[in-house]
Amino acid sequence: MPRIVLASSNPGKLKEFGALLADSGLEVIPQASLGIEDAEETGLTFVENALLKARHAAQASGLPALADDSGLCVDHLHGAPGLYSARYNGGHGDAAANNAKLLRELDGVPTAQRGAFFICVLVLLQHANDPAPLIAEARWHGRILAEGRGSGGFGYNPVFLPEGCAQSVAEMDDALKNKLSHRGQALALLHARLRELRA
Ligand code: IMP
Repeated sequence: MPRIVLASSNPGKLKEFGALLADSGLEVIPQASLGIEDAEETGLTFVENALLKARHAAQASGLPALADDSGLCVDHLHGAPGLYSARYNGGHGDAAANNAKLLRELDGVPTAQRGAFFICVLVLLQHANDPAPLIAEARWHGRILAEGRGSGGFGYNPVFLPEGCAQSVAEMDDALKNKLSHRGQALALLHARLRELRA
């Protein structure tokens, strides 16, 4: 079975990728299990950071690498927290503090102006110097609730109400989130692109 390294150490993302790639025919190895540390995310866009992460993992492992850079962009905040979603409140990965800060920033903002989207950019590199990365991007539109609801998953799930849904992401079951989400959609696009190339 072909092996690829997954350039993420975020337990929430790893769990989702585990389910999303279960039938992919690939052996997917999280970078931490090869002793690979997180890359420095010095890019100014999601796509730049996804490329940096994938290149770092491919270089360190000698394997093809799949990286995800993702985040939440809020219209009223001109796209913040954006690239800094994981560390919006200072410390890295403190979801409760990040959600609390976001709700404070939007305090009193009417429903119609609480639009937001999750974005996921996936990059697949065959090797560290691959000049032709496969790149897939997807967005999941919705709005920020006035207070968090539910406890499933990770990150901003409790405060995000997707368009056309009655449940926050944290109230959904895993299968529904994976079907609708920015990550699920980006992976479906990447699969389609791989199929095209192999056809
Ligand atoms: P990254 O590891 O730099 O890509 O950080 C992405 C951050 O965006 C995560 O730590 C979360 O705060 C947020 N995020 C991305 N995708 C999701 C999601 O599906 N649900 C909730 N939060 C997410």
